[in-house]
Amino acid sequence: MTCTACQFVAESARVLLRRDGFILHAITQPTPVRGWLVLTSERHARAWYDLTAEEAAAVGALAREVMQAQLESLHAEHVYAFAIGDVLQHFHLHLVPRFATTPAHHRGRAAFDAPAAEAISEAEAAGAANEVKTYLERSAADVLP
Ligand SMILES: [Zn+2]
Repeated sequence: MTCTACQFVAESARVLLRRDGFILHAITQPTPVRGWLVLTSERHARAWYDLTAEEAAAVGALAREVMQAQLESLHAEHVYAFAIGDVLQHFHLHLVPRFATTPAHHRGRAAFDAPAAEAISEAEAAGAANEVKTYLERSAADVLP
C-alpha cells in the first residue's frame, strides 16, 4: 500500500525547508487561510507517538521557529498547531495562522471545513509560503558566524 505522504516526501517538489528528519511545505489542499503550512516527517511514522525521542524534540523546536516566522512575516496574531491524523496516517503537524481578519468560520478546527469556494488562489498561497520561507532563511543566516 502506498502512503501519500511518503510519496510526497520522495517527490519533494514543494519543500520550503528540510531539517532534522522533517520537511516544511504548504498544505496541499485549497484553503482560505494564507500561510497554512505543514511539517511532515521524512520517515514513515504513524503519528507523534511513533517519533523517536530525537525526532520529537526536533519537531517541537522546528514548529516553534516556523510559528514565529508565520507571526512575524505574515503578521498573524496567533498560530494553531493540529496533529489529527485520521485521514493521512503519516506524522504531519498543521501550523495554521489566524489573522485579525480571519472570520469566525475559519478559526480553530473549523478551518479544515472551510468551503472550497472560499479558497485563496494557488498564487496567493505560494506567495505566503514563500514569505515564511524567506523569513526562515534570513533568521538562519543571522545566527551563522
Ligand atoms: Zn508514509
